[in-house]
Amino acid sequence: MLSVGGSPVWRTVTGGSREYVDLIAEQIGEIRTGTPVRAVRRYAAGAEVTAADGTTESYDSVVVAVHPDQALRLLADPADREREVLGAFRHSRNTTLLHTGTRLLPRARGARASWNYLMPSCTAGADRVRVSYGMNRLQPLDATETFVVTLGGEERVDPARVPARMLYEHPVCTPESVAAQRRLHELAGDVCVFAGAPATAGGSTRTAAARESRPAALGARR
Ligand SMILES: Cc1cc2nc3c(=O)[nH]c(=O)nc-3n(C[C@H](O)[C@H](O)[C@H](O)COP(=O)(O)OP(=O)(O)OC[C@H]3O[C@@H](n4cnc5c(N)ncnc54)[C@H](O)[C@@H]3O)c2cc1C
Repeated sequence: MLSVGGSPVWRTVTGGSREYVDLIAEQIGEIRTGTPVRAVRRYAAGAEVTAADGTTESYDSVVVAVHPDQALRLLADPADREREVLGAFRHSRNTTLLHTGTRLLPRARGARASWNYLMPSCTAGADRVRVSYGMNRLQPLDATETFVVTLGGEERVDPARVPARMLYEHPVCTPESVAAQRRLHELAGDVCVFAGAPATAGGSTRTAAARESRPAALGARR
């Protein structure tokens, strides 16, 4: 991907990720959105899940697919190993802007890419680097206007051209987090597995490789 020529063909799902989310959702009996989980308590033969409204339900098994720090906070009784591995990940919080300006893209149109990287100077620290996603290319969008998603970059974006502003947490790659990723399989049990992408794949959207004996009836209510 980093070579000058011969870059791979970028493929996108027709209709966007909503298409496969809908397909998966069709196969899941019940989905509850807007229902934060407050605690997960594991037993030898199952787990109790307590929601923010205080209701508790029992399941055969649970898949905890949130960021590692969130996963650790959810566990009512984390083991030492879980504290060590899940506690090794750090996240940075980034204001992310969807905007229609081109100030953060290369001036030469031909140099604009899906991912655009701007350093204000050769000596600027990592915190000054701005990454801008060219959404028209990435999605791809059938639009005449240029849509850009930028991490940070508030000082260079015209506020009148910002239809949406988000706060995202990104995993920070450290020697500790890389070492913890390698140990994540140690946490998989018959009742509970951890599947959040930041812990398992360094922040990309690859899915978790839980061990073979992962719960067969994921999410099956007792
Ligand atoms: C701006 C941006 C651009 C990105 N670009 C790319 C890219 O080009 N390629 C790529 O591979 N990856 C990209 N990523 C990363 C990718 O989006 C993430 O790796 C992926 O979304 C992580 O998936 P996940 O299911 O593990 O976690 P998430 O998508 O974070 O899902 C976790 C879910 O758990 C929910 N949750 C948290 N706590 C609780 C709780 N207590 N109870 C109930 N629900 C809870 C959260 O609300 C969230 O919906 C990008 C991320 C960002 C922010």
